[in-house]
Amino acid sequence: MALKVALAGIGKIARDQHIPAITASPDWELAAAVSRHATVDGVEAYEDFGAMLEARPDIGVVSLCMPPVPRFDYARAAIAAGRHVMLEKPPGATLSECHALEAMARAAGVSIYATWHSREAAMVATAKAWLAGKRLESLVVTWKEDVRKWHPGQTWIWQAGGLGVFDPGINALSIVTEILADPIHLTASDLFIPENCETPIAATLAFAHPHGAQVSADFDFRKEGDQFWNIEIKTGEGSLVLSEGGASLAIDGELQAATAGSDALKGEYPRLYAKMARLVRAGGVDMDLAPMAHVADAFLLGKRITVEPFIE
Ligand code: NAP
Repeated sequence: MALKVALAGIGKIARDQHIPAITASPDWELAAAVSRHATVDGVEAYEDFGAMLEARPDIGVVSLCMPPVPRFDYARAAIAAGRHVMLEKPPGATLSECHALEAMARAAGVSIYATWHSREAAMVATAKAWLAGKRLESLVVTWKEDVRKWHPGQTWIWQAGGLGVFDPGINALSIVTEILADPIHLTASDLFIPENCETPIAATLAFAHPHGAQVSADFDFRKEGDQFWNIEIKTGEGSLVLSEGGASLAIDGELQAATAGSDALKGEYPRLYAKMARLVRAGGVDMDLAPMAHVADAFLLGKRITVEPFIE
């Protein structure tokens, strides 16, 4: 039988990915939409989350698509009402609140899933399998996109907790922490913050690797023209390039598979919802915070460099 889900926060990602993934899946029924402003055609609408929880005890799962700062209150209310919770990335505004949510979910006996959609990109699993057992020499992340193109009008990104360039950058870190066998830790971080913003528009990071491999990341929201979501890896036994955010893969210069442009995200959200269905049916919890810990470290260790104001 299909699982009933309520979607809350009907913005860009809810419309671009969640609604199509839910409606295409036999596992799921989109039973309610909770939004302060929007509605979804043919779906029961609520303006208030608490009112939905009270009116629809038959809806066992909520999927939270609002930005990270307001998300905790929604997740806490859902868990208190005995619902399973699926969290957009990043799973919260702070590590402590994510730990608190996990503890609440375990105590309540409900599932909670901190989703990392980029881990579900088409070629990430293949890259991880290729890398297994190889000696890492270097890993370079280049994640450069035009914020005006991909995040129009999203003022929350520039406010504390909105992460700035780490909003996309955390996707790269979610792939890195998925495919590397050994844990890395941050050693240096430069944060480039527009003088009228609270969050960085660009960042460069360096990491220590237990076997001495060079690991670095370069994130930039100011990139016009060609856009880059690449991870380049060299090992003692060959090289690998993941591009298009993990949708394309080349090994030793030879393209294995490529999905470009708007098709690159295809498959990520259907796989997230398939995993959530398995978690709910098995009673599991998946709350991996590794990508977020690196971002928190980048703010902890970050050298702040003021740059020119950002005007959209
Ligand atoms: P968005 O369109 O700016 O916002 C999503 C919705 O969140 C808004 O339409 C609004 O919905 C609700 N919202 C905003 N501020 C709120 C507040 N203070 N309290 C309660 N609800 C609030 O953002 P988005 O691009 O969809 O991103 C949302 C999340 O998805 C972020 O964590 C982002 O990292 C993640 N994400 C985005 C993308 C992307 O391509 N944009 C891709 C993957 C993941 P209502 O008006 O319906 O209440």
